[in-house]
Amino acid sequence: MSVKLFIPGPIAVSEKTYQAMTQPMIGHRSADFVALYQKVQPRLQMVFGTKDPVFLSTSSAWGIMEGALNNVCQKKVLNCMCGAFSDKWNDVALRNGLEADPLRVEWGEHIDPAKLREALETGEYDAVTLVHNETSCGMMNPLADIMEVLRDFPEVISIIDTVSSFSAVPIPKDDWGIDIMITGSQKALAMPPGLALCSVSDRALERAAHNNSRGYYFDLHEFKKNHDKGMTPSTPNIPLIYALDSKLEDIESEGLDNRYQRHAQLNDMVHTWVTDNGFELFPQKEFASKSLTCARNTREIDLPALNKYLREHYGVVIDGGYGKVKGKTFRISNMGDETEETIRDLLNALNDALAKIA
Ligand SMILES: *Cc1c(COP(=O)(O)O)cnc(C)c1O
Repeated sequence: MSVKLFIPGPIAVSEKTYQAMTQPMIGHRSADFVALYQKVQPRLQMVFGTKDPVFLSTSSAWGIMEGALNNVCQKKVLNCMCGAFSDKWNDVALRNGLEADPLRVEWGEHIDPAKLREALETGEYDAVTLVHNETSCGMMNPLADIMEVLRDFPEVISIIDTVSSFSAVPIPKDDWGIDIMITGSQKALAMPPGLALCSVSDRALERAAHNNSRGYYFDLHEFKKNHDKGMTPSTPNIPLIYALDSKLEDIESEGLDNRYQRHAQLNDMVHTWVTDNGFELFPQKEFASKSLTCARNTREIDLPALNKYLREHYGVVIDGGYGKVKGKTFRISNMGDETEETIRDLLNALNDALAKIA
């Protein structure tokens, strides 16, 4: 039996998306490809809230997350750290030989804009990394407030990971002044893994132009040069670009506001279920993610047993916690194509599973 994933990535992919991927292959330097690339651009720009180009990188998000650093950081990067993904970004910076400092809070806590301002006022940094939605702890940073601080430091290039929040909540890139906004295919976009999307400001490109450590595969200027011709630097994952085209069609027909509204409503259903069943949200309610729920396993449920039951009886699985909070937390995704009905079915399955194994 196939199992439907309610883990926060990869998430379930619709039949329509899979079907879109089966179209015949086209040459990546052909007119057909240019037409496909140019067809997805304006719709991507709409979802990113930007006039800047949106580059398509055949990699997972980490490829372009690492690449962005090597393009724009020449002095020192400040890594905002509040969970597994944002912590790792500091490690990635150091492994690339960059100067990097942590701005660290406990997992599940948010990055305080005032602390960020203090750190930037030292004048030591030319880049900042921030994970908008820390998937490992279900915590969503107050990005509007954080960007308000960053706009006061025009010499600091902001690199924002929106992997698990893109298209689930509004993130108006240009209005907020985000320089480099990155997402991946297998989380909120509900596509298979393997494609990263990245929109880059002129200011970030300008910075990169003076940097000899850009490398090749993730060189933002290679992306830009090819973008201007409706292409990617190297052969891209064409089936995933077909999938993207199909997904953008879905987003357009639903309407962005309806999509945000749907995510908020479904997230609310899961949050309510969590607290009604004797668990607690892992982050503070005010900073709880809208695209997934991370709950403290306060009832000390045997999560592998829970998942075994869910898998065998309902063909679904949730996540049993990530990294150092594995077993102590569990996570449920409401990203992608979920509906009131599919989330209700999941919560009913969870009720049954808890009654049987707890
Ligand atoms: C999943 C995830 C990533 C990593 O994405 P990959 O596709 O594995 O490279 C990065 N950041 C966040 C917030 C994520 O949720």
